Formats: sequence, structure tokens, C-alpha cells
Amino acid sequence: MSRVALVTGGGRGIGRAISLALAQSGHAVGVNYAANRTAADEVVGLIEAGGGEAIALAGNVGVGDDVQQIFAQVTETLGPVDVLVNNAGITRDGLLMRMGEDEWNEVLQTNLSSVYLCTKAAMRSMVRGKWGRIISVSSVSGIAGNAGQANYAASKAGIIGFTKSIAKEVGTRGITANVVAPGFIATDMTAALGEGAEHAAASSAAVGRMGTPEEVAAAVDFLASDAASYITGQVLVVDGGLAL
Ligand code: NAP
Repeated sequence: MSRVALVTGGGRGIGRAISLALAQSGHAVGVNYAANRTAADEVVGLIEAGGGEAIALAGNVGVGDDVQQIFAQVTETLGPVDVLVNNAGITRDGLLMRMGEDEWNEVLQTNLSSVYLCTKAAMRSMVRGKWGRIISVSSVSGIAGNAGQANYAASKAGIIGFTKSIAKEVGTRGITANVVAPGFIATDMTAALGEGAEHAAASSAAVGRMGTPEEVAAAVDFLASDAASYITGQVLVVDGGLAL
């Protein structure tokens, strides 16, 4: 039987590449989305065309009731979640002096409360199955900070502290928890910053270019595998040497 993976925000960008990579390595994949059903359906279609199993799952992962529904649906259709990838995330950038409470709360709820809600929902069946992988997508902003991203950086730093704590709580149960921290990756999120910012960030990376979603997905796929069984509580930076 193939293992079941749930990828939050799995229809676009980095999440899309993660969904496809995990399907390629034999997982049945739950592809969660918030608003863009077409993108999630397309990923499901690609996985099915390749002979795999997948389902699109609607829901806001920052909301407890939605998370319960997502897990009920994926469990009923594909089986209990063995691999959880907390990927969904948003930015609402601005200097702190001008940052409203809404911008703070929305980012913390979507990027960090979602990780708490989904990890908690996945934990029970992982403990029962004595095996599990929790992989959460942070950012180099959560490690080094970034002007104009106090809300985003706080949410991404929170993911790291959360993951290290969870790793200690469930390590003896065959469950690992790790973080992948991308640098500057070409997706809709970074396209919104404009060409000037893209060029500046790309040239700051040691490898002299932006990363691809597939390069982040490869790291997630490794951490989800049996080969990564002795790695837990770690932050794997995938940034082409941006933060060196
Ligand atoms: P993206 O292209 O903007 O895609 C974001 C995804 O998250 C979409 O699939 C979106 O769903 C989903 N999403 C947003 N809010 C959600 C919610 N409340 N519930 C469920 N799904 C939700 O972003 P990306 O660049 O691929 O980023 C993916 C992750 O990597 C994020 O956590 C981001 O912070 C992190 N990251 C990105 C970069 C980068 O350079 N791109 C760097 C470091 C870290 P819909 O399709 O339905 O809108």
C-alpha cells in the first residue's frame, strides 16, 4: 500500500512541485487548496495521468473546522496521513510602523496556526501507525529576518521552534519533524515583487540565480523518505547560498 501524503497549498508554486514529487515517489497525495480549485484539479489530473492516486481538498488551513474536514476527507478517500507537508503560506508585507493588526493576524493564522492545526490533526494516526513525517515550509526570512516582513518572519521563525518541540515530543514514536527553509524561489509569490527585486535577490545567491519549486520539492521528498529516518528537528536551508 502506498503512503498517504497531504500537501497544504499543494495546487500552486512550491506546493505543486511537492505534490508531484511525492506522487512520483509513490505516495497517494491529498492536494489542499484555499481558492484556486482549477490549479489543484490540474495537479490531481497530472498525478492520475501518471498512474498515481490523488484528491483535491478545499479548505482554509488556518481554520480549525476546515482542517478537521480536510483530514476527514483525505482519510476516507486515501487513508490516514503518513506524510504531512505544511506548505501553505501568504505574505502581507509592509514596515511595522504601518502594519495593521489584520495583516499581522492573517499571516500568523495562515502560516503558523495552520501548522499547529494540521500537525495536531495528523498526529493521532501517525502515533497509532508508529510512523510519520511532518515537514513544514519556513523561509530564510524566519532565520535571518527581513525588513518589511515582521509578520511573515515571525510566522516562519515560529514554525522552527514548533518543529523542534514536536520532534522532541514524538521522536520515540517513529515520527520525525523537520523544516525546509527556501530562499528565493520562482513562484507567483515572488513574481508579485517585480523584476527588480527578483534580479537583486537572484544575484545575492551564491549560485547567482533564483531556485525552482522542484529544487525545494526534492528536499521535501528526501525528508519524507525512509532514508531520512535519523534526521529530526532540523532546518534544511534550500537557498542557493543566499543566506551565507
Ligand atoms: P504561492 O505560489 O503564492 O502559493 C501559495 C499556496 O498556498 C497556494 O497553493 C495557495 O492556495 C495556498 N494557500 C494560501 N493560503 C492558504 C490557506 N489559508 N489555506 C490553504 N492553502 C492556502 O506561494 P509559494 O511561493 O509556492 O510558497 C509556498 C510556501 O513556501 C509558503 O509557505 C511560502 O511562505 C514558502 N516560501 C516561499 C518562497 C519563495 O521564494 N517563493 C521562499 C521561502 C518560503 P490557492 O492556490 O488556493 O490560492
